[in-house]
Amino acid sequence: MSDPDPSTTTSQEDPVACPYCGSTNTERDHPKGPGLCRSMHFCRNCEQPFEQFG
Ligand SMILES: [Zn+2]
Repeated sequence: MSDPDPSTTTSQEDPVACPYCGSTNTERDHPKGPGLCRSMHFCRNCEQPFEQFG
């Protein structure tokens, strides 16, 4: 009853567009604080960190 679902173990996340320049050349930044329901990302294009909610 504990089969690993391959659909939930995605090794590649959807690209997140930068809110500043719209580039998808972004990387996921892992927050260190516990209980954060938001994702930190970093835009390689304009070198700005931004938050992606949801
Ligand atoms: Zn950007």
